[in-house]
Amino acid sequence: MSNTYLIVAEAKGGALRQVSFETIGAAKAIAAEGDSVLAALIGSGVSGLAGELAAYGAQKVYVTDHADLKDYNPEAYGKALHDIIRQAEPDAVLLGHTAIGKDLAPQIASLLGAGQISDVTAVESDGGKAVFTRPIYAGKALEKKAFTSFPWVVTVRPNNIAAPAAAEGASAAVENVAYEAPSLRTVIREVVQKTSGQIDLAEAKVVISGGRGVKSADGFKPLEELAGVLGGAVGASRGACDAGYCDYAMQIGQTGKVVTPEIYIACGISGAIQHLAGMSGSRVIIAINKDPEAPIFKVADYGIVGDLFDVVPLLTEEFRKA
Ligand code: FAD
Repeated sequence: MSNTYLIVAEAKGGALRQVSFETIGAAKAIAAEGDSVLAALIGSGVSGLAGELAAYGAQKVYVTDHADLKDYNPEAYGKALHDIIRQAEPDAVLLGHTAIGKDLAPQIASLLGAGQISDVTAVESDGGKAVFTRPIYAGKALEKKAFTSFPWVVTVRPNNIAAPAAAEGASAAVENVAYEAPSLRTVIREVVQKTSGQIDLAEAKVVISGGRGVKSADGFKPLEELAGVLGGAVGASRGACDAGYCDYAMQIGQTGKVVTPEIYIACGISGAIQHLAGMSGSRVIIAINKDPEAPIFKVADYGIVGDLFDVVPLLTEEFRKA
């Protein structure tokens, strides 16, 4: 029997988010011959992005494109996705483990009467059965889980599962699904961007984070310069947020964002367990701290004992030359 996997793509600022392609990668890793990988694309002015999903391997793209879907609204997007699911009849749905994905997944699981596995960081096919790996105990351990039956819903942590290589000239059937607005109990009046222009923390390949050691809002400036040179995003510990040096939108950790960049540079961060929960999955961790006993050095691949206000500008200068 063949199975149908539906991935839910996400668009932001007129472009598809990388996690959309990574969910296609996850679906393809478990799809057997004869199975289908389909995509759902919801938003306003998003129709033109369907071709890109085809290039990454979606065989058919269901698009709901409507002016009312400009900003994310759980009821509106939930209804649009319900309608796509009714047409596509998938056995399984994969979403990004993003603010939107985390919000939509339980709605969809309840609609399908499906089980859900969240925050998946790896997928494998074990004799035709999909096995999912996810971190538990604030990232201290990994567990492997599998569903006993279809249907199921998973959310995939950004930056962990490889996206397939894009095939040039690939095309997919596009099915436009009309948006039938539900009666909304909530409406979005205005979206206020607090960190405009910054690279999305969850998807950044390089993250430079500041802790209480930056000492003030101005103390983030050298970190921003380094991030600019490396094409990275700036994050923070809760210590820095609580001290009022930066916005909580930048907080990384158990009660903040989870990031898994290729390079994570922790500046003036002690390395509390709650902070590690949000960044210990990073590929290479570099810690800069003037206390050689700081716990962050236990998880760091490279440690620099020194004052961040000396070390960070030196790194920026060197990377600028490279
Ligand atoms: P500190 O622990 O004060 O460390 C500052 C570090 O900077 C020190 O190691 C010091 O040696 C170094 N330093 C100072 N000056 C310099 C300098 N000039 N150059 C170099 N190094 C310097 N924390 C999070 O980060 N994220 C979370 O999501 C989170 N969730 C939490 C949830 C709960 C329920 C609780 C109880 C706590 C949570 N915390 C979280 C808080 C966490 O326990 C720590 O208090 C916090 O991470 C400490 O932040 P910090 O490392 O910036 O500050």
